[in-house]
Amino acid sequence: MTKLSYLHEPGVLENLAMRYQLNEIYTYTGNILIAVNPFQRLPHLYDTHMMEQYKGAALGELSPHVFAVGDAAYRAMINDGKSNSILVSGESGAGKTETTKMLMRYLAYLGGRSGVEGRTVEQQVLESNPVLEAFGNAKTVRNNNSSRFGKFVEIQFNKNGRISGAAIKTYLLERSRVCQISNPERNYHCFYLLCAAPPEDIEKYKLGSPKTFHYLNQSNCYELDGVNDAHEYLATRRAMDIVGISEQEQEAIFRVVAAILHLGNISFAKGEEIDSSVIKDEKSRFHLNTAAELLRCDAQSLEDALIKRVMVTPEEVITRTLDPLNAVGSRDALAKTLYSRLFDWIVEKINISIGQDPTSKSIIGVLDIYGFESFKANSFEQFCINFTNEKLQQHFNQHVFKMEQEEYSREQINWSYIEFIDNQDVLDLIEKKPGGIIALLDEACMFPKSTHDTFAQKLYQTFKNHKCFIKPKLSRTDFTIMHYAGEVNYQANLFLDKNKDYVVAEHQALMTASKCVFVSALFPPLPEDSSKSSKFSSIGSRFKMQLQSLMEILSVTEPHYIRCVKPNNDLKPAIFENLNVIQQLRCGGVLEAVRISCAGYPTRRTFYEFLNRFGVLAPEVLEGNYDDKVACQMILDKKGLKGYQIGRTKVFLRAGQMAELDARRAEV
Ligand code: ATP
Ligand code: MG
Repeated sequence: MTKLSYLHEPGVLENLAMRYQLNEIYTYTGNILIAVNPFQRLPHLYDTHMMEQYKGAALGELSPHVFAVGDAAYRAMINDGKSNSILVSGESGAGKTETTKMLMRYLAYLGGRSGVEGRTVEQQVLESNPVLEAFGNAKTVRNNNSSRFGKFVEIQFNKNGRISGAAIKTYLLERSRVCQISNPERNYHCFYLLCAAPPEDIEKYKLGSPKTFHYLNQSNCYELDGVNDAHEYLATRRAMDIVGISEQEQEAIFRVVAAILHLGNISFAKGEEIDSSVIKDEKSRFHLNTAAELLRCDAQSLEDALIKRVMVTPEEVITRTLDPLNAVGSRDALAKTLYSRLFDWIVEKINISIGQDPTSKSIIGVLDIYGFESFKANSFEQFCINFTNEKLQQHFNQHVFKMEQEEYSREQINWSYIEFIDNQDVLDLIEKKPGGIIALLDEACMFPKSTHDTFAQKLYQTFKNHKCFIKPKLSRTDFTIMHYAGEVNYQANLFLDKNKDYVVAEHQALMTASKCVFVSALFPPLPEDSSKSSKFSSIGSRFKMQLQSLMEILSVTEPHYIRCVKPNNDLKPAIFENLNVIQQLRCGGVLEAVRISCAGYPTRRTFYEFLNRFGVLAPEVLEGNYDDKVACQMILDKKGLKGYQIGRTKVFLRAGQMAELDARRAEV
């Protein structure tokens, strides 16, 4: 891209479109790799032969490729002993997860130990993908295999450059999907896989067609094109074997998955007393009994936990009943908690069995995290996702722009500053403590009388002069944030509910009492002495802390960026929609980065390095006993290069000049 002579949006777009037609889906712009989703298998692009080719090849020597980025990260790690990270971003369906898998395969190829018997670390790292996808991915309107969680995989290497451990961190699994889906989406894959299991499993878990389960039949979509769920079930179990999940554990995992389906089929009817409910009918009773049996808990206790609440006051113990609507809420809350705990258990188990290498000094981290989202209706989830993207964008800005410019200033070379969008204001608005949106939300959640209305009023009042915050004219509870990638209008309605992260005490007690150790371990007892305020935990604040620690890890790594682009919304090959693509390039900061690469000096060498490398081009200069800086200048003059700059300690070359000098050097 940086070789284009006219650099503007249409030029960049035209270049990408033309390359896409030729199935050249990868393009570099400076340090960023753009990957346009081909929406078709291109097996030759990823075979072993390709991996061999890219191994050790200099970046830019071969066609742009995800392997080249992996190779650059690996070699930088080996040569400098420094950790590297590869940040993969893009909107839903753009190809982040596929790209991440290719990267992991390539790193396993470079750092694997061929010929080792049994389960190797790298094999386990690779097989963690299908397991996590079975439990954390679902079909959405935007992607048939959409990751509903963020993921950071830290691959650890020993001093010989061999993979010696790994750690997987996940972020914000979408919990609402367990209980609520809309046409034509699906719930998490694992539910359908299990319904397609061999007959003995189906019988054991009292399952049937997915159409008979409320958590699945809210949508008409049950099958995925080109995916055989029965086959996937077996494949998932095999992958679970490899990542070290035992046969008994697998049985317990699927027992919990089945129990969740049965829970969802428990309906409630009005009870005789006001605001009370009863199990609706025999069918519901059957599902209640089955869920209890699968969770190894007492059916009566399960029923009570679903429809009763106990309040202990200093004087007495009061039992309150829930009306059918609240009973459904209680049931769904239990299902969601069970599922998210199950997911976390799986991630932790994988980490334990892969193992971490405490002696490892260098890692390559691969980040696959949800891209910027802006829909008609945006809620707390979009808020968190867009917050993440603001953070990553800042990291990107800092790295690509600030670092460049700071270096130019340090070296005192002429440099007309290219402006870029600094997003610190938006970040302050969201995460500042005290006073940011997350802090205000936590406050509202702790104050029993707050409603979404009072929360929204508080926001309006606090941020009425904030330049990134807008109160839409016609709404009493919406608010708009001006993100780096555009304005997003959020509905505050469910923010309070979605931010609260507590488990109903009755559910906790029920699950802790399960006779199945697997189930009870998902609900470890809460520490007794925790005071009320420390007991309060919020999803928003927890997520903010997770992001903080991610940013800390990233800040000590050398970053590499891959921007995935979704060329059309039909998920079909060979369709390249210009407007759609340009929008994504803008959101990803790609266009600014292109500008800076061209306007700036992508290659720089210290005087010493430069003389070492290019001294051969002018032996007389080397012999002349000049000052290093003067010597560099003389060599560059002699070769007739233009537009370069000489700083205080380094030579700065324009794009392409390094290659030119190298070519001359080869002639000598
Ligand atoms: P989400 O944010 O929803 O998880 P994503 O960016 O992770 O989306 P992927 O799941 O990686 O998107 O890709 C979506 C689909 O696009 C894949 O299931 C696959 O069909 C296709 N795809 C993506 N990248 C490639 C590729 N390099 N080669 C072939 N097909 C691809
Ligand atoms: Mg994904």
